[in-house]
Amino acid sequence: MELKAGLSAIVTGGASGIGKALCLALAQKGIFVTVADLSEKGKEVAFLIEKENAKLPSKLQVPSAIFVKCDVTDANDLAAAFNKHLEVYGGLDICINNAGIATPLLFHKDKTDGSGTWKRTINVNLTAVVDCTRIAIEIMRARKKPGVIINMGSASGLYPMYADPIYSGTKGGVVLFTRSLAPLKREGIRVNVLCPEFVQSELAMMINPRIIDAVGGFLSMEEVVNGALELIKDESKAGACLWITKRRGMEYWPSKSVEGKYKLNQYKSRRSQYTTTSDIIVPDTFKKIIVHTLDHNFRSATRVVQTHLKLPIKPENAVVKIIYAGVNASDVNFSSGRYFEGKNNETAARLPLDAGFEAVGIIAAVGDSVHLKVGTPVAFMTFGSYAEFSVIPAKHLLPVPRPDAEVVAMLTSGLTASIALEKAGQMENGKVVLVTAAAGGTGQFAVQLAKLAGNKVVATCGGADKASLLRSLGADRVIDYKKENIKDVLMKEYPKGIDIIYESVGGDMFNICLNALAVYGRFIVIGMISQYQGNNGWQPLKYPGLCEKLLAKSQTVAGFFLIHYAHLWQEHLDKLFDLYSTGKLKVAVDPKRFNGLDSVADAVEHLHSGKSLGKVVVCVDPQFSKTMAKL
Ligand code: NAP
Repeated sequence: MELKAGLSAIVTGGASGIGKALCLALAQKGIFVTVADLSEKGKEVAFLIEKENAKLPSKLQVPSAIFVKCDVTDANDLAAAFNKHLEVYGGLDICINNAGIATPLLFHKDKTDGSGTWKRTINVNLTAVVDCTRIAIEIMRARKKPGVIINMGSASGLYPMYADPIYSGTKGGVVLFTRSLAPLKREGIRVNVLCPEFVQSELAMMINPRIIDAVGGFLSMEEVVNGALELIKDESKAGACLWITKRRGMEYWPSKSVEGKYKLNQYKSRRSQYTTTSDIIVPDTFKKIIVHTLDHNFRSATRVVQTHLKLPIKPENAVVKIIYAGVNASDVNFSSGRYFEGKNNETAARLPLDAGFEAVGIIAAVGDSVHLKVGTPVAFMTFGSYAEFSVIPAKHLLPVPRPDAEVVAMLTSGLTASIALEKAGQMENGKVVLVTAAAGGTGQFAVQLAKLAGNKVVATCGGADKASLLRSLGADRVIDYKKENIKDVLMKEYPKGIDIIYESVGGDMFNICLNALAVYGRFIVIGMISQYQGNNGWQPLKYPGLCEKLLAKSQTVAGFFLIHYAHLWQEHLDKLFDLYSTGKLKVAVDPKRFNGLDSVADAVEHLHSGKSLGKVVVCVDPQFSKTMAKL
């Protein structure tokens, strides 16, 4: 929801602390606010807003803020507060259920009946939140206009707070109550919960300062307000729980990988259309590409062979029918034996090797102990994906929404960008990020993810088509090295240097980029495609003076190899798919069609020709992909 003048919001507990800060922040955007609070201090908040708005040139027909005295645990008070809001502002766009209290003494030491102590905490923190949410939904539904409800949770609703179990319990209740309301999004109503750690407010004054120190100190009011505004603005968030800490910033809870453990039918609705494919016939033999001799020339090193599918399937294995396989710059390193330790003759002893790193397809058969169902679309990143079928331990399968070319692109290429920028690049926002080979398989993702994180992106490429693709992906400055000199542009336009460099070309490009790195800059070594197919194969380069340069500018050069981050694959894949399906991430697949395993060598050569645009993929079974497209 765009925060704009003319919308209206009600904020419970708006007289002080976070509630007050939220009222002021919303009012600053021109949003009408009802401050609902038991404390008369709410009058001052409304007065403050009115006073600020009086300075504005336009005179409003209605007050920019009103105060309604209201005990949120009293049904009559609540009804009166919402009615007053409707009477003055005619509708309700945002409802922030913020009122909350701590428990004055430990419930198990409480000799009273609890009605003035712990039962009241439950009533204010949980029952009233449910009640306010109920009323807000009713109003928003009746008006048939989109609305956002933000419930104020707490970090102590995510993990225990020993000092106040009742408080922790109520906030835990608010978290799961809110998350369970995600389906209301279908009616245009988004309900989200905000879980900040300690904020300097009256409530937090009761906490032991040592605990505050241990978690990295108090959050600023601004950080909490920004979290709430993000939950209001981001249309993709419904039933979302945003956790904010001093240590880690904003993070959605739980992570996708944790969610995947209990959400058994995570992709059920999206993939149900594929269950008809359970009648795939598992053949006795199938085709695959093997490396028969070690050579960085992929065509000379490989050939297509017919092989037997070994039956019966082991209990832990699945048979996957491959639909699309991804082509990677490193296919030539695999065929030259580079990825296997030891001397070349030891690697040669392993021949033949099954080629191809990544694919998407559909499970055609499963062993007895596999819980995934036949017909499930899956991705995998193990050797042997240039094949019609793969027999693979089910633990290596990543369930995906669709077995499409775009999803293949998100595997090695997308995951490398997503994980490398986060882990090796430690990317935040407000920085200048340079991406080389930016219109390629992985570069396109790095450009967009850096942009989405709020950075300025400089992208290099060779050719006009690539340059226009990069502009459409949001790159701020595209350097087409066929038209401009990269070194000159960087020196002239980025005199302070580049903060993060995502570099995958190597050779001279490495040196040009390193010389452009800013003080404290981070240089991520993703690869060195320009070196892979030298006359004598991939020869290591010397970088004289590298340490001296890094020392002089407190810089970091960080290597990144996706294989070492397998524990993050599912989480980042889910993140990429979410961005893609909500239209925030585009996936460029090279327009040149490669059909069948016989076209793989052509596809690898196309990638290394420098002419490819986006991700190069091979459609292993064109017939099957056509059938799917019709489903
Ligand atoms: P890609 O970027 O799609 O590769 C094609 C692009 O690379 C070309 O369009 C060209 O772009 C550039 N290029 C090709 N040959 C070149 C040459 N000889 N000299 C200079 N530039 C050349 O390929 P990719 O599969 O996504 O891989 C890109 C890089 O990322 C590779 O270095 C690869 O090894 C690395 N990678 C690393 C990891 C990891 O875990 N570390 C994972 C995936 C990929 P321009 O001419 O437009 O610059």
